[in-house]
Amino acid sequence: MECIFFRCTLPRKREEWQVESMAMGEFELIRNFFSSLGIGRDDVTLGVGDDCALLTVPQGKQLAVTMDSLVSGVHFQPDVDPAALGYKALAVNLSDLAAMGAEPAWFTLALTLPESDTQWLAEFSRGMGELAVCHGVALVGGDTTRGPLTITIQAQGFLPAGQALLRSGAHVGDLVYTTGTLGDAGLALCDQLSKTPEKPTFPELIRRLERPEPRVAAGRALREFASSAIDISDGLLADLGHILEASGVGADIHLDALPLSPPVRAAIKSAGDWSIPLASGDDYELCFTLPPGMATRLDEISKSLQLSMTRIGEIGLEPGLRCWLDRDTLWKPQDSGYLHFYADD
Ligand SMILES: [Mg+2]
Repeated sequence: MECIFFRCTLPRKREEWQVESMAMGEFELIRNFFSSLGIGRDDVTLGVGDDCALLTVPQGKQLAVTMDSLVSGVHFQPDVDPAALGYKALAVNLSDLAAMGAEPAWFTLALTLPESDTQWLAEFSRGMGELAVCHGVALVGGDTTRGPLTITIQAQGFLPAGQALLRSGAHVGDLVYTTGTLGDAGLALCDQLSKTPEKPTFPELIRRLERPEPRVAAGRALREFASSAIDISDGLLADLGHILEASGVGADIHLDALPLSPPVRAAIKSAGDWSIPLASGDDYELCFTLPPGMATRLDEISKSLQLSMTRIGEIGLEPGLRCWLDRDTLWKPQDSGYLHFYADD
């Protein structure tokens, strides 16, 4: 792990390249934005500022580790609000920790920048810091270089040993649930890309796209009784497909049960296409399976977290994922890009 921000401790070739392309004053400036991002934690013996961070994992806990990259032009528009980008880069990683039921603790950041823009960096670090403080995590190290804008974060969290929520735990007879609503971010992105002035994007949908709320508390609460879980980053079909594949089971999903916001419901009605809530991704809700008989307990958790948890289907023995429009009619996807796990009748 390279844990020094903008200091030249890299191999000579890269060091020379960095010094050549960014003045040392700029390195110091950038370092200022990130040297104390997030909260101070007792388990960080040494954070940003040396070759490595020194961290302590509590006794009896396992370390959950995840990493995600966001690339300009691939995962976000180059002119996106930098505060939202900083927020989201951390949020997608915390969402992966949430999917395992882990409690976020630390993260490292690798930042590739086309130039050193003070205002952009101030906003980017502010957005990232907001979420870091909100979830009690600390930035403990990182690296930077010059190049096309790319943000890579590795996040670490704690789990009681042996209690992680895995993709492989679903059983025949389990019920399939999802938190929140599906397709909001996908619809916001469609609206942004189509840029039709007569069709303004709802502010709430933009918030769902740019500032997704990682379901950390839900993941932690579900850890004790859900049989499997995943976060919906690539769309319900793809991500539930990962659970089915890892668990060696199939599922039936009832489209009329999907939790949808009014704009997504309207978009489905006008386009006659369910791919927005099923396949557009970026939802960062949790899809999980639950042994039958847990509905009352789940209701209590949903109420205490003020987060909806909706039953959308069942796990079955027959392999594949079937989406039902009604009792007798199977939905046929129009886009074959996400059909990898879709069952053909
Ligand atoms: Mg994930």
